[in-house]
Amino acid sequence: MDAVKLTQKLIQFDTVNPPGNERECGLFVADILAQAGFEIECQEFGDQHINVIAKLPGGSSGHSPKGDFDDAPLVLTGHLDTVPLGDAPWSVAPWSGDIRGGKLYGRGASDMKSGVAAMIVAGLAFAQTDKANRRRGLTLVFTSCEETGCQGALHLVQEGTIDLGEASAMIVGEPTENQFCTAHKGALFIRAHTQGVTAHSSMPDLGDNAIYKTAKAITKIENYGFNEAPHPFLGSPTINVGMVKGGLNVNSVPDSAEFTIDIRTNAAKPHSAFFDDLDGYLGDDIKLETFTDMPAISTDLDDPFTRIVAGACQVVLKDSYQDIPTGLPFFTDASALHPHYQCPTIILGPGELSTMHQTDEYCLVERIEQAVEIYGRVINNWCLHEV
Ligand SMILES: [Zn+2]
Repeated sequence: MDAVKLTQKLIQFDTVNPPGNERECGLFVADILAQAGFEIECQEFGDQHINVIAKLPGGSSGHSPKGDFDDAPLVLTGHLDTVPLGDAPWSVAPWSGDIRGGKLYGRGASDMKSGVAAMIVAGLAFAQTDKANRRRGLTLVFTSCEETGCQGALHLVQEGTIDLGEASAMIVGEPTENQFCTAHKGALFIRAHTQGVTAHSSMPDLGDNAIYKTAKAITKIENYGFNEAPHPFLGSPTINVGMVKGGLNVNSVPDSAEFTIDIRTNAAKPHSAFFDDLDGYLGDDIKLETFTDMPAISTDLDDPFTRIVAGACQVVLKDSYQDIPTGLPFFTDASALHPHYQCPTIILGPGELSTMHQTDEYCLVERIEQAVEIYGRVINNWCLHEV
């Protein structure tokens, strides 16, 4: 199977999210993998959403996790949905997968149907190997609803109706132009609420103004300093107040107000510690409540899996190989899956960072072929017995 043609085929499924409608695309992928011998489990949810888990077992039976040799499978994961087209007109047909000048165009070309296609093709090659030669299995996890907050991956982990199994390592195929990336930021979204006492605005002394408390808290946040040392690839955490809401009308003292806080974290400490620090800083007048909790990812440069991925990139990318990974500012499905798998995690995919979510999105054809080779080398080095 050809990964470029498969990318085109996947782009032809309209999986713009919302609404998503990934079911048909997911069943198509599941069918390809089932025919190659993968054990398939599909988790359908909501309206036309699907998560597809495809497992190819290793030769040894049973796991000895975290012993002297962790024989749990390698996980490759990607999402099937895309962002909407946007208002600006496209100069190419967004569902065609047309190739012009070495660029494959279409919504999802970079983010991330090229990555999904390359993972499938590399997985099909591994399925051809003799099971006795496999010291680890391979698990492919394809999710829905990533673009609206990793809902598919969270559903997989939280619902527990499908056995995700264990993992010795994981690659997320988000766009990195085939460079290996060992870290991405996390996101902690918090709602802050202040309570007061209402009164007629002509007699404000009788009330307790919740908006004043909110204003003071927001000013404090503007001056908030993180004490953590910057992460080598993610830098420092950031904080932003994005929405404010409060008050009844012009002539009342407001008894309630709220605002939202977005902290982009850098793996320096757990999210609960970021929350507690801010909670202590803002004091008792402000009630905080987390509504999105997607942890950062950070894998050691000298982890054996990192070294294997870096080695594969070096061989395949040659002169364009970057030996210092970059950190990604956005979060991925790894934030949902890593708390379950707890394994070294790398973000690596063929997509172009500069075209993701944009009009006339494309992926370089050459990079799709390179990604198949990189994934293939990683699978062989991590999952096959040494010969
Ligand atoms: Zn993506």
